Amino acid sequence: IKENDEPERMAPPPTVKGRRKSVSTQELNKGNKRQSCVIKPPEMQTKRGKFGEARPNQKFYEMIQDFRETLEITPISTTERIESHRICVCVRKRPLNKQEINKKEIDVVSVPGKGTLLVHEPKQKVDLTKYLENQVFHFDYSFDETTTNDLVYKFTAKPLVQSVFDGCMATCFAYGQTGSGKTHTMGGDFTGKQQNSAKGIYALAAHDVFTYLDHRRYSNLDLSAYVSFFEIYNGKVYDLLNKKSKLRVLEDDRQQVQVVGLEEVYVTSAEDVIRMIQTGSACRTSGQTSANANSSRSHAILQIVLRRNDRATTLYGKFSLVDLAGNERGTDVSSNDRSTLVETAEINRSLLALKECIRSLGKNSDHIPFRMSTLTKVLRDSFIGEKSRTCMIAMVSPGMGSCEYTMNTLRYADRVKELNGNSKAGD
Ligand code: ADP
Ligand code: MG
Repeated sequence: IKENDEPERMAPPPTVKGRRKSVSTQELNKGNKRQSCVIKPPEMQTKRGKFGEARPNQKFYEMIQDFRETLEITPISTTERIESHRICVCVRKRPLNKQEINKKEIDVVSVPGKGTLLVHEPKQKVDLTKYLENQVFHFDYSFDETTTNDLVYKFTAKPLVQSVFDGCMATCFAYGQTGSGKTHTMGGDFTGKQQNSAKGIYALAAHDVFTYLDHRRYSNLDLSAYVSFFEIYNGKVYDLLNKKSKLRVLEDDRQQVQVVGLEEVYVTSAEDVIRMIQTGSACRTSGQTSANANSSRSHAILQIVLRRNDRATTLYGKFSLVDLAGNERGTDVSSNDRSTLVETAEINRSLLALKECIRSLGKNSDHIPFRMSTLTKVLRDSFIGEKSRTCMIAMVSPGMGSCEYTMNTLRYADRVKELNGNSKAGD
């Protein structure tokens, strides 16, 4: 079979240097070792486009289906080895929701497994020929739309809980566009308006914290756990466990950053923590004034802190779980009033700062640009030293309508990972 004998499926040459590039099925087939998804030979692409009723972009739908038939899928399973990374970057795709299915939205994201994720970007040539630009990304783990929070937790936050018991400062970020599943992953499922917090990474982590506290390996450390929960909106900190009271962030002359007056609640069980999450989440979404119209415009940070009982003020380890503000750019011209622009600028700045801080951590750089934003200021001790651990879960929506946002999210996650020592291995 001749290469590229189907012009419509031909992708233009890769435009971006580096690990991410656009490929055709045939290119993916060439056995590049870096590609962890195995592609079946083209002669197995038998089924042609005969897909029931018409939908907008039917042609693209068929092209994506054809491409998928060539993909060999090995979804992540519970038995997969859990690697230990100082910086771990992974991606999670949510399923199409009811509305999207009703609108016959096309799913443009494929997750063949083993850390790989593809975006089938619909494109059109000047002569109106449609083609797909199949963008391949590699991360530490990739989770498809059937993956449960439990499984995501096992590969992302769970290893960090362990590290906190070894005295680490760990952070786990949920990053992505509004509606991509950040709160679902961190806070738990919603059924109607009720949030089932017990199913989110917050609660799963809390559960393990108490399991470890009782474990004989750690019980002699004589540790206690404390929880705080706060929100950063427009660069200001609000305490979610204390009626959203506004708090000040101070840095002393030893560069130690403090959130003055932040509630830190002593907790003795996972149920205690879940209650705090519920209180805090309700506080986050209720009583929103015009100055804080939407929880998607703020970062929410749940911290589980371990302290030695004999030296109650000494911090032993800290786990920060962060539900980041939506990363969509302020391209929505319908809402270009001043406060929205300020909001958007602030979010962009903090997400940029976050990326730079994680990259500095990855480079073992002495200079951590944490002063760039309130977010990175309050997380400062998570970016310095041997005892820092970070995991970023990039969330993506599967729909064609979200394609551009999805690409933005993946490019960002790719940049975070780029200088991580691990990713260089195997070159
Ligand atoms: P975000 O916090 O990123 O704005 P949400 O977590 O609120 O997004 O998710 C948006 C909607 O999609 C919610 O109704 C949520 O229940 C649903 N959802 C998100 N991720 C998943 C998933 N993995 N499986 C099923 N539903 C999901
Ligand atoms: Mg949310």
